[in-house]
Amino acid sequence: MVVALKKNVSEEKRAQLIDWLGGMGIKVHVSEGEFTTVLGLIGDTTKVDKDLIESLDIVDSVTRVSEAFKCCNRKFHPEDTIIDVKGVKIGGGNFCMIAGPCSVETEEQIVAVAKAVKASGANMLRGGAFKPRTSPYDFQGLHARGLELLKIAREETGLPIVTEIMSTNDLPLFEDVDVLQVGARNMQNFEMLKELGKTDKPILLKRGLANTLKELLMSAEYIMASGNEKVMLCERGIRTYSDYTRNTMDISAIPMLHELSHLPVIADPSHATGMARLVPPMAMAATAAGADGLIIEVHNDPMHALCDGAQSLRPEEFDALSKKITAVREASLG
Ligand code: PEP
Ligand code: MN
Repeated sequence: MVVALKKNVSEEKRAQLIDWLGGMGIKVHVSEGEFTTVLGLIGDTTKVDKDLIESLDIVDSVTRVSEAFKCCNRKFHPEDTIIDVKGVKIGGGNFCMIAGPCSVETEEQIVAVAKAVKASGANMLRGGAFKPRTSPYDFQGLHARGLELLKIAREETGLPIVTEIMSTNDLPLFEDVDVLQVGARNMQNFEMLKELGKTDKPILLKRGLANTLKELLMSAEYIMASGNEKVMLCERGIRTYSDYTRNTMDISAIPMLHELSHLPVIADPSHATGMARLVPPMAMAATAAGADGLIIEVHNDPMHALCDGAQSLRPEEFDALSKKITAVREASLG
């Protein structure tokens, strides 16, 4: 249920209404816009008397919302959410560029890539330490050592670090990580989502390989309903019958997610295409479609990368792309 308040309602009257709803077990999410304040009622609202609330002199309108997702729903929270990662803002017109290798391999590698992508305009560093690989015989990541190397690269460059968590058992190791990535394969690991909801870490939630937008939003809802509202959605390509590319980048997901939700939307053209030469065109398309940021795999030696070399840009390719992205943003922002 959504309650729109009239203009200039006093703090006191608003608090009285929220208290009264709280007494019925309803949690209230307050969204203050420039002209109106909207209260999002979360919980079992079947017992709430819509007519009674509508009759209050401070209330403008009441709408019953039957949508499954509430916390991440734009109807409850009309303003864009802006997430702040150590001073880097994402969403609401703030664009972020996350770049780095698929996996952290050595100190030299991660520091060299971090310095290069920073010089080209990236404002966050990615790198997997825990890798979800299809084959158990493939490189699984450096685990705790990988996280330490990411921190060294952060120290060298000042870039906040983004890295994937695959199990809540590892949460203590991630205490000093800036953004926790939930990978496509874990998008519906509901127990993990609930645990991440109890942390105050920004979460980059990737869309599953075969998941709908509604399912992605329901997963964001798991994190938010547990108390953590700092969620970024990520379109990283889905499985279709299209051949030749690793996945199909669902560009329309970007404006659609923006319509449905107030959360920032990040695009990952690397996993979406699986081919370095297709990353720039898809990155530009996603930017033009309104993405709040990009996450791009960059490696200083893609031919010898331990994971996802084929889709990794060389630092100079990333540099060229970064300039194009700036131009696309300038053109699309008018
Ligand atoms: C990754 O970012 O390296 C990764 C494994 O991504 P995804 O979960 O989207 O496949
Ligand atoms: Mn990868």
